[in-house]
Amino acid sequence: MGLLNRYAETLTGLGSFVLPEPLKDMQVGLFNTQLANELALPDDLMQPQTMLDWLYSPVTPLTQHAFAQKYGGHQFGQWNPELGDGRGLLLAETTDSQGHPQDLHLKGAGPTPYSRHADGRAVLRSTLREYIGGEALHSLGIPSSRSLCLFTSSDTVYRERPETGAMMIRTAPSHIRFGHFEYYFYSSQTDNLQSLLDFTIEHHFPECKEALNPYASLLKAVVSRTARLVALWQTHGFVHGVMNTDNMSIHGITFDYGPYAFLDTYESEAVFNHSDHQGRYAFNQQPGIALWNLNALAHAFSGHCSIDEIKAALSTFESTFITQYQHLMLSRMGLEESEQEPSLALMQSWLQILETQSQDYTYNFRQLALADINNIQCPFRDTFVDREKLDAWWETYRELRLAKQGQSQLLSLNPAVIPRTHLLQQAIALAEKDDFSLAEALLEAASTPFDTKWDIHPFSKPPASTSHTSLSCSS
Ligand code: AMP
Ligand code: MG
Repeated sequence: MGLLNRYAETLTGLGSFVLPEPLKDMQVGLFNTQLANELALPDDLMQPQTMLDWLYSPVTPLTQHAFAQKYGGHQFGQWNPELGDGRGLLLAETTDSQGHPQDLHLKGAGPTPYSRHADGRAVLRSTLREYIGGEALHSLGIPSSRSLCLFTSSDTVYRERPETGAMMIRTAPSHIRFGHFEYYFYSSQTDNLQSLLDFTIEHHFPECKEALNPYASLLKAVVSRTARLVALWQTHGFVHGVMNTDNMSIHGITFDYGPYAFLDTYESEAVFNHSDHQGRYAFNQQPGIALWNLNALAHAFSGHCSIDEIKAALSTFESTFITQYQHLMLSRMGLEESEQEPSLALMQSWLQILETQSQDYTYNFRQLALADINNIQCPFRDTFVDREKLDAWWETYRELRLAKQGQSQLLSLNPAVIPRTHLLQQAIALAEKDDFSLAEALLEAASTPFDTKWDIHPFSKPPASTSHTSLSCSS
């Protein structure tokens, strides 16, 4: 199958053609054969070595239309028009097994007109975190960009310390961000905004064309997808870490992984990004920030939608989020939605017990799924400090937990393995010595997170320390 370049060809004025600049001695570190099989890639690209070779020449299907997109974004609440692909390039487009478009995007490709004096590079640490994170979220059923290929190199890239330079190719339905619309709106590039809106609807939201106002329909779709995404993040204890509007995909997928983390110990106010001094992107702030970001996006629609249409679209966020979140949480706990009040109260008190007793989030949900509900006493009570409190909770839980909801269903909603920060750090340390064995093992586990074989594997255990690691934004 041939590759397409519709964004670069249709929206040529919305970015710059830039050739990738390969690093020294690039080698294939990881290749996602399963994902490659799901894409309509040219046969040659089924070989990662060819993929790599094609990046070195200016006249291959991966490089001849390589394009850096221009966008802006609200970063920590401040408008920044100076953004764009400073180190990423849209190489080409393909389709997935359902015939939906999928971009091939190279991260760490070298400088572009939007690099702002930075080096245009990415390091192995951050590309490996993104690679595993994307596949892990996908396997949990959380929409995400996906990871196709990771290349290492012998080049040193300087961050807080000298690090190994790397690149990765990821896929996503498109790389159109909230910040794209914001940029063309705030810079009064009316024609470009119009072209971008029409392109987005035509190629990515064709169902909106039928609506009375397709632009209002598009906004509503983005609100709804974003609300669902954040409900999934909250359910799984995922913290994105840097929800700037340039890191928000209009498809409602997890995108532009930076200092992300899954909660270990349940701490509702946990902040992982060490530059986030105000806690703007704390775990429990994510729903509010998503709505803030949607408000920023909605401004860019103000020439195309009435105030009432914008208000109507934004007003669906809260109810969509709450409905989804409650549904997902009650399902994870095997609780009946028709018994909503007692079930929700039980869910809240569970979270409170986890938080006040500094208990691991994912591990204890999994224990709940594994537990034999016929036990009078909570089978995993030993790790809790205030056992009486847990016992009292367990008694009510047993009563409410649906007998009909089989254990296998609960096990398929509560992962045994997530890519915990300490595991990622161990995998990175080895990969920096050219040993990808732990990265591959973690990837396998994170790609089959519900499999009971992991319950006896160290990957499923919480880290020894309950205090969490702050993560650098540098990548
Ligand atoms: P990020 O923090 O990765 O979401 O990036 C924010 C903005 O900075 C985007 O416009 C990136 O393209 C740009 N950027 C980040 N790191 C680099 C880098 N090393 N070189 C050039 N641009 C970068
Ligand atoms: Mg970004």
